[in-house]
Amino acid sequence: VLQKLMKAEKLEVVSNLAASISHEVRNPLTTSRGFMQLAHESDVPSETKYHLLIAIEELDRATEIINDYLTFAKPASEENEKIMIYEEVLHVVNVLTPLANMNNVGIDLSLVKKESCYIVGDRKKLEQALINIVKNGIESMPKGGKMEIGIDYCHHSLRIKIRDQGEGMTQKQIDRLGEPYFTTKEKGTGLGMMVSFSIIQGMGGKITVKSEIEKGTYFSIEFPIADV
Ligand code: ADP
Ligand code: MG
Repeated sequence: VLQKLMKAEKLEVVSNLAASISHEVRNPLTTSRGFMQLAHESDVPSETKYHLLIAIEELDRATEIINDYLTFAKPASEENEKIMIYEEVLHVVNVLTPLANMNNVGIDLSLVKKESCYIVGDRKKLEQALINIVKNGIESMPKGGKMEIGIDYCHHSLRIKIRDQGEGMTQKQIDRLGEPYFTTKEKGTGLGMMVSFSIIQGMGGKITVKSEIEKGTYFSIEFPIADV
């Protein structure tokens, strides 16, 4: 119980931190973009115009990354809608198929469509949470491999299962999952898992991780099914 409490407290600190990061970074990006836009519209050589355009595009890209990673840090925009898990999982797989192909990773889907089983929450956030997890799975197999993604339905809950055959994690690494900036990657952000954990737990879900070095990692995400 104590451990659970500590984890919950950590998560709250973490989502506040995330909210402040996204806020603090978004503002200077917006300001810089405004001034560049002004400069672009003024009487400058065409080469300078071109450079400014590229700079503006790059700023937009940075903003996009913040939006992708930290959309959940806007508690006011919380949506509560029916989420057909089947459709969301399919959507996530579609979004990540190009990345999987690039990494020689095949994705095995075992999905049964069940109209009567849905959960209630914010669809975009859930997509974000799943994308971050599946993306890590793909990235854990630099030499290629297979990911298995499936859904199990029970009476009152459903389980999303995400399995990779990648490099796996030590117990120490598993314990640090969800900690902000924890990454073992050269260009990692260490934000993906933090975002996923916050979102899933915020939606009443439960995440279980099993992992073995050199064998792979298994994420199980359990949600209570909403009452019809
Ligand atoms: P990032 O992917 O930017 O490193 P994440 O928060 O998404 O940040 O993940 C944090 C760390 O957790 C990763 O750097 C990696 O060490 C570990 N990890 C997460 N998922 C997996 C996985 N499926 N297989 C192996 N390691 C993983
Ligand atoms: Mg990641």
